[in-house]
Amino acid sequence: MTTKNLQGEFITFTDGEYNIPDNPIVGAIAGDGIGPDIWSATKMVLDAAVEKAYAGKRKICWQSLVAGEAAFAETGAYLPETTLEAIKKQRIAIKGPLSTPTGGGIRSLNVALRHHFDLYACIRPVRYYEGVPNPMKRPGDLDVVIFRENTEDVYAGLEWPAGSDEAEALGDYLREKLQAKVRPGSALGIKPMSPEGSKRLIRAAIEYAINNGRRMVTMVHKGNIMKFTEGAFCQWGYDMAKAEFPDQVITEDELVTKYQGEWPPGKIILNDRIADAMFQQLLLRPSEYDVLATPNLNGDYLSDACAAQVGGLGIAPGANVGDGIAIFEATHGTAPKYAGLDKVNPGSLILSGKMMLDFMGWNEAGELVEKALQKTILGRQVTYDLARQMEGGEEVSCSTFGKLIVEAMV
Ligand code: NAP
Repeated sequence: MTTKNLQGEFITFTDGEYNIPDNPIVGAIAGDGIGPDIWSATKMVLDAAVEKAYAGKRKICWQSLVAGEAAFAETGAYLPETTLEAIKKQRIAIKGPLSTPTGGGIRSLNVALRHHFDLYACIRPVRYYEGVPNPMKRPGDLDVVIFRENTEDVYAGLEWPAGSDEAEALGDYLREKLQAKVRPGSALGIKPMSPEGSKRLIRAAIEYAINNGRRMVTMVHKGNIMKFTEGAFCQWGYDMAKAEFPDQVITEDELVTKYQGEWPPGKIILNDRIADAMFQQLLLRPSEYDVLATPNLNGDYLSDACAAQVGGLGIAPGANVGDGIAIFEATHGTAPKYAGLDKVNPGSLILSGKMMLDFMGWNEAGELVEKALQKTILGRQVTYDLARQMEGGEEVSCSTFGKLIVEAMV
């Protein structure tokens, strides 16, 4: 059921599908530090793209939500219940960076949001935009979309300090019951990985590949050493694909044995790589990879490494997605020293907004954003981070960069 409201309508989610009205209510958290600056530029760009693409027939009704320091000042809570309730109702939200409160038991507001809404897939597309300074000879060869598991593995939060009662009790259990060699006084952490958690992440990666014309999904794991966690992640992926996508997915082995190494168009190839080898592969043969599905920690490292290959985190977009709720976000932090200076690059949040438009099926607007950003970078009037590395680059402010992107939309 679509609930009418004065400014817009709520997005609904039925039978696994989002229903997007022409005037959806979308939550927006500006965030801390540089958040308000980059959000203001991003909003301007996204609104202009939607206006241009649909000539006023579609419009996002932003609802401003608070979290982080602004929320704490206003409500005494870093993640107020009202914000969580609003996101639950709106289903799609976009956010700037949030600073991690010091002390007080919250590990990270971002991790808290992911756990609260069970946003199990962290999605990071990484591709090169021409003109962005970068360390590679052929940066354009890398064009991957990373699906990183968000809720299990070492981010499950199951760890206890050295000498704590919990670590000692767990250590005693491991030594006595499982004859494990654990030194007394050790800090201990647990790395849980479930069939359900692994399969839904790999399923999301395969569905993305199918829906976006990608040809390969690579599971990245360290199963040669961690056989029962990361090794199982990979095996569960193969089992799930065989059961659920028998007509769409073939394995790398089948590519050789059944198809003589010739990719059959329309099929997705599912393969796997050991994590350490994958870091080499992505540097040496990046064009051979496409969609990556990874457990939590591998994906954490790989996402930033890939972003560096195409010019850094300043313009790397991301989203955290569950079943029925998706939050799009800048992948960098709050860069507090630049807060309020109207200086930093809004590209990461702008491209996260482009991801959001695509996710909503508003691809025409998404494409306008991406093309205009590319054109602006080629025009060399860019924020300080790009200008300082770009021959002939002219530094402009965050808001001016946003305005130039809007002007570049044709
Ligand atoms: P950071 O905020 O990402 O900033 C580190 C450096 O990255 C900045 O000093 C700046 O480099 C560069 N940078 C970041 N964003 C930029 C942008 N939009 N444009 C241009 N350059 C940019 O990392 P941090 O200082 O480690 O973390 C600060 C706070 O952010 C912490 O509280 C952390 O917990 C939080 N954090 C939040 C998120 C999130 O909400 N998703 C993610 C990471 C960190 P230069 O100094 O070289 O100019």
